[in-house]
Amino acid sequence: MSQFKTVRGMRDFLPEEAKIMKYIEEKARRVAELYGYQEIITPVVESYELLAAKTGEEIRSRMFAFRDLGDRMVALRPEFTASVARLVATTLKNEPKPLRLFSVGSVYRYDEPQRGRYREFWQSNYELMGSDKPEADAEILMLTNSLMKSVGLRNYTFKVGHVGVLRGIMTEENLDEKTQNAVMQLMDKKMYDEALNLVKDSGTKEDCIITLQKLVELKGGDVFDTVKRMRECVGGYKKAEDAVENLYKILKLVSESESKIAFMVDAGFARGLEYYTGMIFEVIVPEIDIALGGGGRYDRLIELFGGEPTPAVGVAHGIDRIMLAMQTQKIPMEKREENRVVVIPTKEEFVGRAMEISRRLREASIPTEVEVMGRKIAKALEDADRRRIKYAIIVGEKELKEGAVVIRDLIKREQKIVKLEKIIEEII
Ligand code: AMP
Repeated sequence: MSQFKTVRGMRDFLPEEAKIMKYIEEKARRVAELYGYQEIITPVVESYELLAAKTGEEIRSRMFAFRDLGDRMVALRPEFTASVARLVATTLKNEPKPLRLFSVGSVYRYDEPQRGRYREFWQSNYELMGSDKPEADAEILMLTNSLMKSVGLRNYTFKVGHVGVLRGIMTEENLDEKTQNAVMQLMDKKMYDEALNLVKDSGTKEDCIITLQKLVELKGGDVFDTVKRMRECVGGYKKAEDAVENLYKILKLVSESESKIAFMVDAGFARGLEYYTGMIFEVIVPEIDIALGGGGRYDRLIELFGGEPTPAVGVAHGIDRIMLAMQTQKIPMEKREENRVVVIPTKEEFVGRAMEISRRLREASIPTEVEVMGRKIAKALEDADRRRIKYAIIVGEKELKEGAVVIRDLIKREQKIVKLEKIIEEII
């Protein structure tokens, strides 16, 4: 017995799950295409400084960070946004706006492993750079809905809020950014009392605490009714009023698109990432009480990285968690009619011919395996059956003499003799 196993929080994906992961990735790529997002590939390893700049304490403290052999402080990316913002602040700085960029790949966080929470996981990430308009935020919500819908998920809700409401109030009350960040982190962890105490300790007046308290309790119900109550609640704080108005416009546009998204407005909603400045959201399915995706607006990040001031909004979807949700809701992948083939030579001298047939089939885009264990036909067929392969091509002496092979349909359990040059049309 080998003592080797995967590192804690890291997983192998065996064929069945690898297939679902790739299936979701394909759907994500299709959504990118449908909405005009171009794919970019950025490095898994980035400078620690870049990744740590604005991700927030929660993620910062969970980064896989280390010194490389050249004594550079680097880390494995815990998300994509910093890398994309770096590109837009540098190489892509003169590109015409809007820029719609898509990435997919693995990200790393030293989270405590549990169901739906891993240390290596996969995200599909979309960033829309250059627009501060509510239609940009609405687009990100709509494309997220398109992805969830295209994999067949049901009953999911979009929890939505606006960072500008709480931050607007705190800014007008002269709370410094560091305290604001700490308050938002606590709110993200639903530690509302601690968050409000922190505001209180900064010498903020009682009225303001009452307003914040009311906001934190304001969630759910009819979407536009909740927004109206938010507006009443923040009366007098100009920045917060503007934020509510902005949230209203975004939700109205989505409603006019008839996307039929189930929203849950949460006035006290905060997200761990520090760079958000506007609308924020998460997608949740009731069966697994964790977010399948999340995102929002971050208008100052690119400037912070030394680029031109560039408003931006984006989202990251957790591919592993979408898979978990599909499995929990028992949603099958769409069936793709795949005529998988195994080619079985009956004698060693026919292996070369089996290789030749397999090459031709693959060149015609037909997934093909060759029997490489030297097993007898019955055993090889049994194995092909177990793996749900559709056709077996048996390369035997008698048929080869006639320039033919046997093609066996393993589902219908029928077989016929087919000329070598007709194999592909028989299978397609
Ligand atoms: P965030 O970048 O924190 O907004 O996360 C975006 C999405 O990534 C979340 O909504 C999850 O679907 C997924 N995600 C975050 N952390 C993990 C994790 N530790 N394991 C698996 N998926 C995760």
